[in-house]
Amino acid sequence: MPTASISHSLFDIQIHMRTSEHPSVLKIVIVLVSLLPKLIATLVKNLQEKWLRDDLGPPGTVGNLFSSQSLACPKCGSQHVNRKDYKVRKPVVPVFGEIKIPQRRVECRECGAVYKPYEKTLGLPKNGNYTKEVLIEGIKNVMVMSYEKASCFTTGSPSAGTLHRAVGDLSPTKNDEEVKYELVVLDATDVPKWKESGQITLTLAHEVKRGPEVYGRSTLKRKIVALAVGKEKDIKKFLEEKSIQGLLHDGKL
Ligand SMILES: [Zn+2]
Repeated sequence: MPTASISHSLFDIQIHMRTSEHPSVLKIVIVLVSLLPKLIATLVKNLQEKWLRDDLGPPGTVGNLFSSQSLACPKCGSQHVNRKDYKVRKPVVPVFGEIKIPQRRVECRECGAVYKPYEKTLGLPKNGNYTKEVLIEGIKNVMVMSYEKASCFTTGSPSAGTLHRAVGDLSPTKNDEEVKYELVVLDATDVPKWKESGQITLTLAHEVKRGPEVYGRSTLKRKIVALAVGKEKDIKKFLEEKSIQGLLHDGKL
């Protein structure tokens, strides 16, 4: 069977064709690219297994102890741990977008804390470290669904708690660009607080423009101008700094 192999300082790659099929170049590209995320996830998992074997000894050994203080429990500093499990993270990476990466977790034998000893080594963003775009997307989701649902439907699945904090931290940001908006629509929605009683009002101001015709139907393009905690009249002050020709709201401004 035909084989292709490439050597790199990081790894050797070998591919063996399994069939006598004559695939097109396009098919080869599509199949290879679709297999790569799974290959990366498996490689990262096996790497962590190797590191753990080197740092902690083979599985099942009693008295496992991390040799390096840098891998010690972040809570109590103990180096005695047990292997626990893998937790899948979904970082966004170049080329592929979101991929699934299993991250090794261990349990501290002194205090019971569960942590990821190779968090730093793997260099994945810390949990809850989401870009502003992701948090805005999450807050928009919170305006139409529960925090839990919004968490699932947001890129990178920030937790419901993270989205709730993002809503709490929301403050109108100054935007010095000289942009002229023709038509801006205000939508105010009451969002329940998470795990507490009470409501928070969120107002989203978006610019609406005519979009391309799709199958003979006109569409609208929306772009966020401002998103803030407060009712429509509270947003007014913020919008005054912007150049807006027409503002559509429900009359409470
Ligand atoms: Zn501990």
